[in-house]
Amino acid sequence: MNADVLLWQARIRRAFVALVVVGMAVLKLRGVISSDSVLARDIGPGPALGIAVALATVYLVWIQLQMRWLARHRRDQVNAFVVMNVVIDMLLLFGVMYCTSPASEYHRALIVSVFTVQMTQLYFGVRATLYNLACVALFYTVLIVVATSQGAITAPAEFFWDFALYLAGLAIFISLQWTMTTRLERIVQVFDRVQEGDFSHEYDLSLDRVPDPITMVGRAYNRMRGKLEAIVLTDPLSGCYNRRGFDQMVARELARAVRGGHVTAILALDVDHFKKVNDDFGHLTGDEVLREIGELLRETARLGDIVARIGGEEFSILAPDTTREGALILAERVHQAFRQRTFRSLNGLRGITISIGVSADEARSDEVLATLRARADEALYVAKKSGRNRTEAWHAGMRAFDAALRRTNETPTP
Ligand code: GH3
Ligand code: MG
Ligand code: MG
Repeated sequence: MNADVLLWQARIRRAFVALVVVGMAVLKLRGVISSDSVLARDIGPGPALGIAVALATVYLVWIQLQMRWLARHRRDQVNAFVVMNVVIDMLLLFGVMYCTSPASEYHRALIVSVFTVQMTQLYFGVRATLYNLACVALFYTVLIVVATSQGAITAPAEFFWDFALYLAGLAIFISLQWTMTTRLERIVQVFDRVQEGDFSHEYDLSLDRVPDPITMVGRAYNRMRGKLEAIVLTDPLSGCYNRRGFDQMVARELARAVRGGHVTAILALDVDHFKKVNDDFGHLTGDEVLREIGELLRETARLGDIVARIGGEEFSILAPDTTREGALILAERVHQAFRQRTFRSLNGLRGITISIGVSADEARSDEVLATLRARADEALYVAKKSGRNRTEAWHAGMRAFDAALRRTNETPTP
């Protein structure tokens, strides 16, 4: 990833260096800035400017080679290049400063390095930023020491005071940017989960000391969270969880059950002869009946039970901390509720029935869920074949019964 950043930064580096060197050369040659640098006092202004231009040329060649290498090798992470760039940027900056600027203007190098440190932190993180700051400290100290030894600086302490102020200011910038980045990362984490359909995490507002635009985004997300969850995880017709919602709630519940070694039950439910409801009353009325059935199942189940419409006229209930006997009681309550229910959409008609398959087991591992579901389906199939409007609890003998039934059904009737 940082290879891509280096590639686009290389273009900026090239343009920036070319602009500064051309600008500086023009201003120097026209005499607009004429104070001699420490080096120029030694070897003359012309050769000093020449060295600065040579340094910039070497730098541009390096950038060019680096771009070519990156484009050819297409690596993702090129940490060595990042460190080299940080060091070479600072070498160029302070080198050109030594060649072209009088000692009194050395603070310019600090001003320019503020931008590079910011960019380094934004794109390459804390470690590269520390390298960058270490280079600034080292090269700035070398400049001051050399200039002092050549008599160009008489009060070096002033320069180090500049440096202390620079560090203090930068520390504020860096810590601000760091908290911004980590908070944005938290938002990205929350959004990543949402992408997987998991709405369980909200943005933690308590960690934001002062509300700012990131807090606003967090708040807006928290407000949306409930609505989004309802849209994505529930079935609009029956008001129960949809398959995605069921899978998610079940996974969460199961993790808890596995930790505690609880017994968990699953009920597979299928409305009997629902096709006939559609045929007799029409599809729209069929939908209304499904809506009422969803309502009825949610009213009948306990508060912690997870009721879902898995598809068509098929429902599932996950009952946490519920044994086989408990699940059978729940199933009986469902039958009872169907018997007593007068369906509004059928003008008070009764007679809708449902078949239920039950399976329960201790949650020893995550795999138990798939087993429980398959067994509940098997038991439901048996309930259908044994006359409907009844509950069957799964037992080991069922598999043979089930297989025999399927064989009978597959035998063509003469
Ligand atoms: P069985 O007792 O064997 O379950 O008979 P059934 O008629 O309920 O079963 P089958 O699976 O053959 O048919 C299910 C019917 O449910 C088919 C379809 O007309 C109806 N159905 C499925 N989804 C919907 C829905 O969203 N709305 C309506 N109105 N009907 C649906
Ligand atoms: Mg069905
Ligand atoms: Mg059915």
